[in-house]
Amino acid sequence: MRQNFVAGNWKMNLTLPEAQALTTEIVQELREEQPSQRPQVVICPPFPLLMGVGQLLGEGDNPALGAQNFHQKDSGAYTGEVSAKQLQSVGCDYVILGHSERRQHFREDDSLLAEKLKTALTAGLKPIFCVGESLETREADETFDFIGQQLAAGLFHLSQEEFGKVVIAYEPIWAIGTGRTASTQQAQEVHAFIRAQVAAAYDEATAANTTILYGGSCNAQNARELFSQPDVDGGLIGGASLKAADFVAIIKSF
Ligand code: PEP
Repeated sequence: MRQNFVAGNWKMNLTLPEAQALTTEIVQELREEQPSQRPQVVICPPFPLLMGVGQLLGEGDNPALGAQNFHQKDSGAYTGEVSAKQLQSVGCDYVILGHSERRQHFREDDSLLAEKLKTALTAGLKPIFCVGESLETREADETFDFIGQQLAAGLFHLSQEEFGKVVIAYEPIWAIGTGRTASTQQAQEVHAFIRAQVAAAYDEATAANTTILYGGSCNAQNARELFSQPDVDGGLIGGASLKAADFVAIIKSF
């Protein structure tokens, strides 16, 4: 279902007390609005903080809890790893997949991501699937080819029903954590391209129903303009999700 949507990716930040203080502040600020009137909000803390944060989110599925990663196998001798079923059992509804930091630092490639996608969906987790080009790719004028390939290899092997559970995040790598945001025009043209690719792979109705987020130095100052673009349905927020006032301002930017 296409919806206004804001997810916070806390990455490897915060201790449990810090995370709980931040969550309490976010939840209090959002309390003024009916859950049905706000965008879908998802908070993605690191693994050890999931339960402690989840307990503070209250009843219902908005705000929802998300994870940042998991192992592709269901269970077994994988010391140090975490399964999708375990995430689901501690209250996660969403999981980020294909983030550029995992593609780059942990060598997650398209075939691993395809396996992870299936595992997530089988466990009942909704993937927030990230795509995005490097600065080199953009400057070589290859952005659309690159994103098209990431979508085809990473996502379009899913059945239509499976694909319906996925949220896509366009995150240009050059904009992540750099303070350099894509212009509204750059974001809109890639989002429109992604939607057209979804229409070609599935159909127009599926494309019209797909939630596509922008990520990359999105903050309280630029969120409103970005979210006003016709194909931008919200944001995946890194740095600015670590401050309650900034994150809530982004949530209220629709
Ligand atoms: C991210 O890592 O998903 C992200 C968008 O980070 P930032 O907002 O800090 O650029």
